Amino acid sequence: MKLILLGPPGAGKGTQAEALARRRGLVQLSTGDMLRAAVKAGTEIGRKAESIMKSGGLVSDDIVIGIISDRIAEPDCARGFILDGFPRTLKQAAALDKLLASKGAGLDLVIELKVDDEALASRIEKRASDTIAAGGTPRSDDNAEALKTRLLAYYRETAPLIGYYFAQGKLHSVDGMAPIDEVASQIDGVLDAGGSGLEKMSQEQGAG
Ligand code: AMP
Repeated sequence: MKLILLGPPGAGKGTQAEALARRRGLVQLSTGDMLRAAVKAGTEIGRKAESIMKSGGLVSDDIVIGIISDRIAEPDCARGFILDGFPRTLKQAAALDKLLASKGAGLDLVIELKVDDEALASRIEKRASDTIAAGGTPRSDDNAEALKTRLLAYYRETAPLIGYYFAQGKLHSVDGMAPIDEVASQIDGVLDAGGSGLEKMSQEQGAG
């Protein structure tokens, strides 16, 4: 099964992707985690991405498409994967479709986590303070200034993917404001239903 979790920064994509990967035996693919690892390791990609990530902007499509296409080719992805934080632009979405089509595969479902904007800042603040409380270093982009840029990038570049995947009959939305376990069971409900509902609706409307 190949899934995408879609939603603004702080929507809970990482938390849900990690738990879902465990429940279903899938691989979680987070481009944010991969890029942070590259920054930490001081690779060429990491050096290119570091300041962009810190400011909350988007790393170039070519870089992230390259990372994902290499990663998807690895054997552990054969059983299926959950993309968390990719695609973030229409160009990335089109590249992903092409990549999967070249392997004779396609995406199964896209799950959108719907959250209120007002909740995002407090979630991001909480993530930073929880990390500090646990003795760690918070993400360099988990602050009010970078969040503004990340939200702008989301609405400008990523939100159009909601229409893109609706038109493909793949979009399903869950209430990301619900408690973590409740969101997880809504996601399980979508997966267990095998993606009926909206898919049927968009096909009936001839959009799919
Ligand atoms: P995330 O952990 O998903 O919030 O990503 C952290 C940061 O990494 C983002 O704010 C971007 O700077 C960068 N990033 C992660 N995934 C992508 C992507 N698919 N396209 C462009 N930039 C990305």
